[in-house]
Amino acid sequence: MSCLFCRIAAGEIPSTKVYEDELVYAFRDIAPQAPVHVLIIPKKHIESAQALTKEDDALLCHMFACARKIAESEGVAASGYRLITNVGDDAGQSVHHLHLHLIGGKTLKWDN
Ligand code: 5GP
Ligand code: ZN
Repeated sequence: MSCLFCRIAAGEIPSTKVYEDELVYAFRDIAPQAPVHVLIIPKKHIESAQALTKEDDALLCHMFACARKIAESEGVAASGYRLITNVGDDAGQSVHHLHLHLIGGKTLKWDN
């Protein structure tokens, strides 16, 4: 398996786990951009948001439900946070396995 995030989800590469269930794995970003920076990934390999299909509707909805839970447990649900998914080169997607960045814990600028 060559995908970095598939390997992290499988426990082959160490990470700091924040949340896990049968469909989703969430862990701290190695280079955090804010006090809270968690990556939420499906265990199933999906290249990016552009590769989602109708079959993934429930999975995507579940990823957002996980994001809400993690926002609560990280203490940013009330203060606010950002969910970002980069798609492709112009967005700077560097790992080609769908992930939501959950970023918060400070006032975020849009132009970052
Ligand atoms: P992208 O640029 O694709 O939207 O986001 C990839 C994210 O993965 C980056 O924020 C980067 O810091 C993070 N990342 C890359 N490699 C690793 C790793 O080995 N472990 C962890 N925890 N995060 C990583
Ligand atoms: Zn993968």
